[in-house]
Parts: sequence; C-alpha cells; structure tokens
Amino acid sequence: MKSTADFVSRLVSGGSAAATDKSRREFLRAAAAVLVGLNLPQTSLAGGGQHGAGGSGQRVVVVVFGGARRAETFSPEGLENIPHLSRDLLPKALFYSNARNEGVTAHFNAISSILTGNWQRVDDWGKVAPTTPTLFEHFRKRLGAAQSDTWVVASNKALTSMIGASSASDYGPAYGANVVFPKQLMVAAVANALRSGRSRNMADRATVESELESMLEAGNYEGLGWTVSDMADRLDPRVRDTIEQAIGNFVRGGGPTSGDELTFLVSREVLRKFSPRLLVVIFSDVEVAHFGSYALHVGGIRTGDRLAYQLWQEIEANSEYKGKTTMVILPEFGRDPDGSTTNGFFNHRGDTESTRSTWMMTLGAAVDKPQIIERPIRHVDLCPTLASLLGCPPMDSQGARLTELRV
Ligand SMILES: [Zn+2]
Repeated sequence: MKSTADFVSRLVSGGSAAATDKSRREFLRAAAAVLVGLNLPQTSLAGGGQHGAGGSGQRVVVVVFGGARRAETFSPEGLENIPHLSRDLLPKALFYSNARNEGVTAHFNAISSILTGNWQRVDDWGKVAPTTPTLFEHFRKRLGAAQSDTWVVASNKALTSMIGASSASDYGPAYGANVVFPKQLMVAAVANALRSGRSRNMADRATVESELESMLEAGNYEGLGWTVSDMADRLDPRVRDTIEQAIGNFVRGGGPTSGDELTFLVSREVLRKFSPRLLVVIFSDVEVAHFGSYALHVGGIRTGDRLAYQLWQEIEANSEYKGKTTMVILPEFGRDPDGSTTNGFFNHRGDTESTRSTWMMTLGAAVDKPQIIERPIRHVDLCPTLASLLGCPPMDSQGARLTELRV
C-alpha cells in the first residue's frame, strides 16, 4: 500500500506527466475547489467584481513559468515543446523576444524582483520578505483594493508566503496578497486526514501514515525548506467529506500527477470565485530539471505551455475578465548552457545569456497590435507597467514602463 505515499512524493517533487486519467482529473478538480475553500478568512469569500477598488477597472494575470531556456522554447528546435504559446497565442501577442533577468537567478529573488520592480537580493529560500513594496501592496494601499483582489497561487517550493508582501515601512502584510501553495496544502490535508483516522477504509493505514510522517518530519521534507502548515484547525467540516472522498478516489486510482495541474485548477477556482484584479500564477514543473531529467524538464515545459493556454481560454470565457484583462507569461530566467561547469540545464546559476535572457509574452487588453519587440527589456520593467495598467500612481522602481503596452 504505497500509493498514497507515492502520490504525495510525486506531488511534492513536481510530478512528471500531465494528469490524463479521468479519476485523477476529477480528484484534482475536487481538490482545487476544496483548497480554495480552505485557508481563507470568511471576509475574503465575498466574491469578486465589487471590491470598491479604484483605478482603471483593468485586470492583470501574470503567469511565471520557472526556469526555461530559449533553446527549449522560442527557438527553431524548441517550438515543438510550446505548441500553444507559439501557434495559438503568439499570433495575437505583443512579444518581447529578449526579456532579461539582470538580478539574482534564484527563484525567490527572481519572482520578488518581478513583483516589486526592483532587483531583490534577499534570502534565496524566502525567509525574508522583499525590501521594497510589491505590486499587491502598492495597488491595495493606493487604490483601496481588497485582499481578495490580489492573489499568488504557486507550485514552487522555493517560495514562502513572504512573496505576498514586503518589509517596506508603511506597507507590509496588511496590504499583501492571498498566497496559496496548493501542493503544500494538499500534502498537509492528506497527512491530516490520515492522522485523524478519517481514511479508515484504506488498507494498512499505519504504514502509509508512518511513511508520510517521516516525509513531513521537521517540516522540511525533501530538504527544500517548506514548512507544512497545520491544516487540522482549518479543515472546514463542509468540505471535509469532499476531500476525504477525493483522497480515497485518488488512492484507489494511483498514478503520477502534476503539481502545476493542481496549481492551474486552484487558480481557475480563484478566478471564478473571487474575480481578483491581480492574479499571479507560478508554475514549476520545469524545475524537475534540478533532478537531472531532461525528458521530464521538457515535459514540464509542455505542461506549462498547455496550462498557460487553458488559463487564457478561461479568461476569454469569463465575463468578469474578457476584454479587460492583460495576461503576461514569462520564465523567471533561462537555465545554464550545455557544457557549463554548473551542469547545464540542471541549474540556473551561470552569468550567461542562456541563463539571463528569455522572453515575455503579453496578451489581451493592453495589446494594441500583435508584434515582436526585439529591444532588450528587463524584468523590473514589468511592475511599473502593470501598475499603470491597473490605474495606480507610478511606483518607485528601477524599471521603466513598457510603452508598447496600451494603458
Ligand atoms: Zn530552480
């Protein structure tokens, strides 16, 4: 009876193949709905659309992809890995072909640089908040937007809830975003259900439980610094039956799944239930590259390509978003070049073009006409651009607004 532990282990380690089996899909869908219902103050559950926020009425969705090189994406040999981005979305996009990370090429710093418009050099593992205000804080403080208007949904283990707000004086968590880590919540919910004995229909529960406990010990499973939150107090009785059933179904179905799939489904639930003005989705299946499998890394790119496209389709089908939403898709950085001393695609530590230069795609309301912009832009340019799209006053940023995007 290893399937639960296998499942958790796959979920934690980033999964490999996309979930295609019907029962797994149903499980993930139920889990997404459940996870969105957890972990939120009741006041956040008021729904979307009427949060009293000022500004432009425009909405922004940012999809961050993990580390992916141009070689595996927008290059002649990479296009086959991104059929949706290159064939379905590029023809309607304003596409920056040289978007540069000129800061620290580690996950927490890269994402907090994107979200603050300033190159951040804080702890790589998210123990310290960014030092200048995030776009969430700026938007909420200046325009009075509610917390339910700003969300981060992330698969990446190198992040913590510190990504949602800075340590800047006069800003901070009071103006921060809702931050959700679906895989982490799922692992904790599985562990909690097992501990509480609610899964008595599973054979050999004790074995599964001890495997899970050793995995979760010290809040540091997989050695990558995640802390497992205690779900016991948060598990709403209204959703308990659903999650029990979902876990039961999954254990009977077994098989690999993808953390990004769950992140996508939670993001979609957030869009449908809360209609936030600003949603940031952070995928990370591609980061399986750190374990050295090129095939799984490329599989992660294909998953991200598909899920980004599905998210765009959701925006187009949702009346709260259609016609007034700008979606931005970008990798955090590339990866190291083949033959480098840092083991090539495994890592993203090199001070090289392969690591620093990728691309950025923008879609929707702010795109005047599809075009490809070849002049180099920097990741810190995105935040002041999004601030002006949302109708915020200018931010204090090292970046410059991208004038090709229509405000
Ligand atoms: Zn990485």
